[in-house]
Amino acid sequence: PERPTIRSFCIIAHIDHGKSTLADRLMEATGLLTERDKTAQYLDRMDIERERGITIKAQAVRMSYKYDGVTYALNLIDTPGHVDFGYEVSRSLAACEGALLVVDATQGVEAQTLANVYMALDANLEIIPVINKIDLPSADVEGVKKQIEEAVGLDASDALLVSAKTGLGVPDLLEAIILRIPAPHGDVERPVKALIIDSWWDSYKGVISMVRVFSGRLRAGDKIRMMATGKHYDVIDVGAYAPEITSMPELSAGEVGYLVANVKEVVDSKVGDTVAAADDPGAEPLPGFKVVQPMVFAGVFPTDNADYSELRDALAKLTLNDASVTWEPETSVALGFGFRLGFLGLLHMEIIQERLEREYDLDIITTAPSVKYRVYLKDGTETVIDNPAKMPDIGDYEAIEEPMIIARIQLPEEYLGAIIKLCQDRRGIQLDIKYQTSKRVQLTYEMPLAEVVFGFYDQLKSLSRGYASLDYEQGEYRRAELVRVDLLVNGERVDALSLISHRDNAYNRGRDLCIKMKDEIPQQQFEVAIQAAIGSRVIARTTVKALRKNVLAKCYGGDISRKRKLLEKQKRGKRRLKAVGNVEIPQGAFHAILKLD
Ligand code: GDP
Ligand code: MG
Repeated sequence: PERPTIRSFCIIAHIDHGKSTLADRLMEATGLLTERDKTAQYLDRMDIERERGITIKAQAVRMSYKYDGVTYALNLIDTPGHVDFGYEVSRSLAACEGALLVVDATQGVEAQTLANVYMALDANLEIIPVINKIDLPSADVEGVKKQIEEAVGLDASDALLVSAKTGLGVPDLLEAIILRIPAPHGDVERPVKALIIDSWWDSYKGVISMVRVFSGRLRAGDKIRMMATGKHYDVIDVGAYAPEITSMPELSAGEVGYLVANVKEVVDSKVGDTVAAADDPGAEPLPGFKVVQPMVFAGVFPTDNADYSELRDALAKLTLNDASVTWEPETSVALGFGFRLGFLGLLHMEIIQERLEREYDLDIITTAPSVKYRVYLKDGTETVIDNPAKMPDIGDYEAIEEPMIIARIQLPEEYLGAIIKLCQDRRGIQLDIKYQTSKRVQLTYEMPLAEVVFGFYDQLKSLSRGYASLDYEQGEYRRAELVRVDLLVNGERVDALSLISHRDNAYNRGRDLCIKMKDEIPQQQFEVAIQAAIGSRVIARTTVKALRKNVLAKCYGGDISRKRKLLEKQKRGKRRLKAVGNVEIPQGAFHAILKLD
């Protein structure tokens, strides 16, 4: 049966097209935001998200709106916009019946929204095109409508025209949400079943999960079971964010809201899992649950070894909130004691790195990312390696398998040649090519994840002037001719700078790394030799010449305060340096690997 007074939807938009501003306007029009709240974009809860314009955690707010004498509950579900969070996006879309596709009237359709539009179409959502910023003189409403029809393939004749800034058109948009987005279906009388869209740690309530109820009811005191783990819990509280957390007597079929049970850790309340009644053992899980595995790994080390325990405490806290980060202790000859972290992707890695630095005020060095390899050793055993430094020497293994991904790239036809070449250079195998419109092409490639991790996304964007979009899913493991390339500084191997490369590219990568490293390592009082080697065979070499004079020589001996300043400056420069033997290596050097073509 239908739940006629509920509507659940998300907003899809390219960055800066006005998603957050529009969300605020909708909340204002439905009485959720007061004048006082207006300064902050409500859905963007974390500073980093706001500054980077991305939303990491899916959130949902409930608005209430009276239309034609009937009061509707409108659930606005926020979705993360980046491929790293693809699975989280698909779970949040599964909680909606509709999506607002927001396009900036002065910019037109851009790449970043497309992957999400296709996901929304896959999820059978009703998509309402919304053309925003019509208050601006340069708004080109007709041109943008045409683009939406051509590039996205949607009928834009009844697109809504709004200004999220002034509020113009917002009442019509609310009407369209009610009239055009289907009401959810769900039987309130059947046993409860709910989908977990997101879970996080709250210092007052413990683990909070955002859920969409598909059948039955959830009430405080109910006994529930998480289907992925089979564990049983007691429901402590249910309700909705409106926009502050607000308790409710129950959440019933079709509703979206939060669930607090006596779950101790976020990992026990997994995104995509089904909540069922404890006394309903025959329940079938809702479709599509998968355990998200970290795909990218990197070492994180305190710049100052004395900060090790602070880093550990910070990681413990941070992972309370983000169950998709894994971590374990790691030791590096070059960098000392630290941790090996696992991330969903590169952006996820950058976010975590930034949060460690900002929220926990830590000075850290992150090594270049790696993927997880399966290694078949000569002695017949098999091992899994996520750290290039730990890869056995060439000659000690029979074979290596690397993880592949299935990449879908959407792009305007004019960049096709350049992007195909990029994919081929990255050892991609073309699986499919198809025209979506006369001007837009979809390419499907099988590619080694390791090749995508190293700057692929940036290159894709720059070769297509930002118009190509990428999303990917995990593929199989495949054999490849891979070798470990080591970097030596004055004859000493810097374990944190080892990389794994296809045999055919090893020579070039080794040479490029030596050249990049030469720029990164500051001159010292002595000559520094930089070498790349496979096993004991040196394949490339550069040299950092010795400094001619020391810094203080410039001061002509006299000016004390100037001397002090120079010394202080030198000291500051040492933050983020690590000594290898007697050579100081800055953080940038540990990332030079990323910049190899
Ligand atoms: P998001 O990245 O999609 O969340 O975009 P924001 O909501 O943060 O908006 C990006 C910028 O566009 C901000 O500076 C907004 O003030 C501005 N903006 C959003 N909507 C409008 C609008 O309708 N008219 C004008 N003139 N500016 C807008
Ligand atoms: Mg925003």
